[in-house]
Parts: sequence; structure tokens; C-alpha cells
Amino acid sequence: MRVLIVDDSRSMRRILGKMMSGLGYTEIDEAEHGAEALEKLSVAVPEVALVDWNMPVMGGLEFISEMRQHRDYDRVKVMVVTSETSPRIVYEALKAGADEYAMKPLDPAVISDKLQILGVG
Ligand SMILES: [Mg+2]
Repeated sequence: MRVLIVDDSRSMRRILGKMMSGLGYTEIDEAEHGAEALEKLSVAVPEVALVDWNMPVMGGLEFISEMRQHRDYDRVKVMVVTSETSPRIVYEALKAGADEYAMKPLDPAVISDKLQILGVG
């Protein structure tokens, strides 16, 4: 299975990558921001994208809004992973097309449970 990890923090990408490989993901793609993530999507479509909210160039909201306009990516499950805890941002993320929302600091058990609920765990 393939995952696309979108986060401007290299250490966060590394942590998430290890977590996803522990869950059995063998193809792990990374992007530093939404614009790079859109390029990665055009090359290979993952089962799931883990998406940070605050990033330079293109943040999570814009990225999710853009990708949700492409029918080719309809089946990609999107989980926002962010330290933003505002209900307003959770609402905006889900409204833009995110399927799930997880708060940093990461709890691998919680993320694993949520991925299972989405059918990609
Ligand atoms: Mg960030």
C-alpha cells in the first residue's frame, strides 16, 4: 500500500513514515507542501494521504481543496495531522474533503485506529 506524507517538518515526515511502514505500507512518498504533493499525486495515487495544516507555499486546506476537484483522487483517504486543535479548523478540513483528523503530538494507536475505520489501516 502507498501513503503520501505531506508535512514541512522533515522530522515529522520521518516519524510518520516509520509509523506507516510499521502498519504495512511499503510505498512511502513525501512532500514538503501541498504544491509538491499535487505533483506526487500526478505520478502515483496513494491509498491514503497524511496532511499537515500549516505549511509554506501551499497549506493543507488549499491542497485538500485542490485534490478533491480531481476525480482521479476520489478514492484517496485524507487524514489531516496537525497541532491545530481549533474546532473551526477541524470543520474547515472536513468541509474541504478530509476524511479524518488527528492531533499532534502523534498517538500511533489513535492514527492506526482511524486508518482502520477508513479501511486503509
Ligand atoms: Mg507544518
